[in-house]
Amino acid sequence: MINNQFYDYIIAGAGASGLSLLYTLLDTDDYFADKHILVIDSSFTPKADKTWCFWDENHPFMPLTHKSWKHLTVVSEGLEFDELLENVNYYCIKSEDYQNHVLDKVHSATNVRLLESKIHAFDTLNHLGLVHTDKGTYSADWIFQSVLEPPGFQHSVVDTSLIQHFAGWEIQTESDCFDPGKALLMDFDTQQNGGLTFFYLLPFTESRALVEYTIFSGQVLEKSQYHSAIEKYLQKRLNLSKNQYQVIRKEFGAIPMEDRRSPGYYNERVLNLGIAGGITKPTTGYTFTRSHAHSKEIARRLIRGKDPVPYSGSPYRFRVYDIMLLYLLEHEAENSRKIFHDLFKYNRIGNILRFLDEKTTFTEELEIFSTLPYAPFFRSIYQMKHRIFTGA
Ligand SMILES: Cc1cc2nc3c(=O)[nH]c(=O)nc-3n(C[C@H](O)[C@H](O)[C@H](O)COP(=O)(O)OP(=O)(O)OC[C@H]3O[C@@H](n4cnc5c(N)ncnc54)[C@H](O)[C@@H]3O)c2cc1C
Repeated sequence: MINNQFYDYIIAGAGASGLSLLYTLLDTDDYFADKHILVIDSSFTPKADKTWCFWDENHPFMPLTHKSWKHLTVVSEGLEFDELLENVNYYCIKSEDYQNHVLDKVHSATNVRLLESKIHAFDTLNHLGLVHTDKGTYSADWIFQSVLEPPGFQHSVVDTSLIQHFAGWEIQTESDCFDPGKALLMDFDTQQNGGLTFFYLLPFTESRALVEYTIFSGQVLEKSQYHSAIEKYLQKRLNLSKNQYQVIRKEFGAIPMEDRRSPGYYNERVLNLGIAGGITKPTTGYTFTRSHAHSKEIARRLIRGKDPVPYSGSPYRFRVYDIMLLYLLEHEAENSRKIFHDLFKYNRIGNILRFLDEKTTFTEELEIFSTLPYAPFFRSIYQMKHRIFTGA
């Protein structure tokens, strides 16, 4: 049975992208002050299960920054490439701080209702979106969902389907052993494990850091395999034996790295957000900043009386670069490692971040490509020509 109360918008899923949209609607304009918004999630209890990191000049959650770094490092083949970033910082936000912050804003908003319930399906009726939950069915002009895999997802063309899977430990050491001024973006000097494998280390203080073991491959590992890799890394690289640190928090992630175009709509009245909306940059897994860009675009369109639209996605040439690199990551993992090595050896990290943000010019991209081994890219163009020459 459909609940009587009608909503202008329903946000189904209050994770990174759902809360980003909610925050944007509450923060953007008086236009939304009298709109009735229902937010549904299986739980609104903030969880310390993720750290969201991204680079930017500025961002709407500046006060929530847990830590930021101006200095980034990459380690490969015994060399350390490091750089003081010019225009951006690398920021880290804790998921529970983000959830608390957005939900605090809701408490002073009379037009927002939070509903804790399991979502089962979406539907439409008379040009309204419907969401079926444990607690009934709710309707709205527009539903924004980040919960369910959209219909059509399994039928979209996909040639490369990898997972960026990782486990992270936040550790507290007995003595000072980190330089909190420098974040280690990638350390490739570890045994490769069925795909491109590296460590990531974010030092929060001299004695506290998050260390993550990451692999780009087709299958996740047993939890114990990540954990023993982290233990070995701490021993070998930082000379830290088990009794010299305490694991204070653990996180685990498995983010899709695919060349598919995800359906933007679930149905005519339900728009997909976040990972369900396919907004993740497939070659890096970064999603957080793209979610905010999508939220702003949705708010802008609603204010202008237009229908919200799916995330615009990468321009054609960046889709092609992603398709090429994904192919190499899947089929030529060892060459991929060499490509990353040359990328960081011959290019400024700031330029690489702009390239990953898809903000470089074609000339700048050619300059970057000229520093990389050509042959693997020619092979990937040949193998992926059916995608590249048909609009990617
Ligand atoms: C450990 C980890 C670290 C990450 N770090 C970064 C990073 O540093 N930078 C970056 O850019 N990206 C990062 N990502 C990738 C991405 O930003 C996150 O996965 C992000 O949370 C995706 O946002 P989302 O809104 O799509 O999904 P989620 O944040 O997972 O939100 C989905 C929401 O839907 C709810 N839900 C699911 N099913 C149901 C249901 N049936 N009924 C009701 N509610 C439901 C969940 O409770 C959840 O709140 C990370 C991912 C992980 C897992």
